[in-house]
Amino acid sequence: MAGLAPLQWSTVPRLSSLALARATLDRATERRRDPDWVAARWADQKARAVPVLAGKVPVTDDLASLVYVSPASLDALGATDPAGAAVADTDAEGRYFLGLDTDGVPYFAVALAGAPEDLDLYVLLDGCSPEETQSATRNGHRMDSAGGSLAGEVRWTGLREVGGTLPDRDAGVVVHAVALVNWHAAHQHCARCGERTRPTDGGHVRRCPACETQHFPRTDPAIIVLVTDADDRCLLGRQGSWPVGRFSTLAGFVEPGEPLEHAVAREVHEETGIHVVDAEYAGSQPWPFPSSLMLGFFARAISTDIRVDEEEIVEARWLSRAELKAAVESGELLLPSEVSIARRLIETWYGSPLSGSW
Ligand SMILES: [Zn+2]
Repeated sequence: MAGLAPLQWSTVPRLSSLALARATLDRATERRRDPDWVAARWADQKARAVPVLAGKVPVTDDLASLVYVSPASLDALGATDPAGAAVADTDAEGRYFLGLDTDGVPYFAVALAGAPEDLDLYVLLDGCSPEETQSATRNGHRMDSAGGSLAGEVRWTGLREVGGTLPDRDAGVVVHAVALVNWHAAHQHCARCGERTRPTDGGHVRRCPACETQHFPRTDPAIIVLVTDADDRCLLGRQGSWPVGRFSTLAGFVEPGEPLEHAVAREVHEETGIHVVDAEYAGSQPWPFPSSLMLGFFARAISTDIRVDEEEIVEARWLSRAELKAAVESGELLLPSEVSIARRLIETWYGSPLSGSW
């Protein structure tokens, strides 16, 4: 170890309170391996399920809380739907355990198909006792359709819209639920032998009945980086598919066998021709569109001559803080969504929140 300097705490700021990195549930990974335990959690009168339909979840009209439904109403839905089109399956397929809150309340994600207006779901009201919940389920706090007492108060929407408005618990529930439902939807067959696989471990593994291979949920690591130059300007780029004026930090998927720091340097150079060093990790958040994990970095440029690749990035600019502020305020430049880690990287460099977004 001779020659190593003592550890110095980095001065690179860490990103905190990222919108999609606020999960609070205990995933109970040891216990969810027991199918009887998971079944008992589903049967628990306190259990809450979040339905996921084409990447969307039900929320209150003010986007301030997630609307949960009772597992009993989902069981009833599966039993009464003649086409079997609503719930993917009435056993563990389509029903995935997410975790427990500090009161021991179990949470599930449920994959739905069909149209919201065809779903006869019953809302589980926050703070309801089990008896009240049963009564609500029987007496019809229907989520939607004509006649439901909550009709018009529930909206189906996606994480980009509500990822920043939901409280910590609900934001974490939705990120986990959407990521898991996306994975199951796209990975129904064994990659080794082609047989149809079945979920186990509360939906966190799929097992092949033919060759016994276990398949684990896929997460795709991607780096996203705010690059600064010697004059402390930041480098932002625009993808060809984006409208003129929309800019963000540079990003790209990590390749097999590639360290994160190399991915940062490679992506920045490929897309803009800029050489960077000193990639410093700043924080991460899941980005389940459909299955990414965004790993945020700051990096230092050692060149400034921009040559965009014209494929992924068609325009890139160096911006001082004053230039960025002026461009944002005039509407010339639109920043990424407040839910994104890109926005937090930019604002962390800038030093305060900025207005305006896509
Ligand atoms: Zn197989």
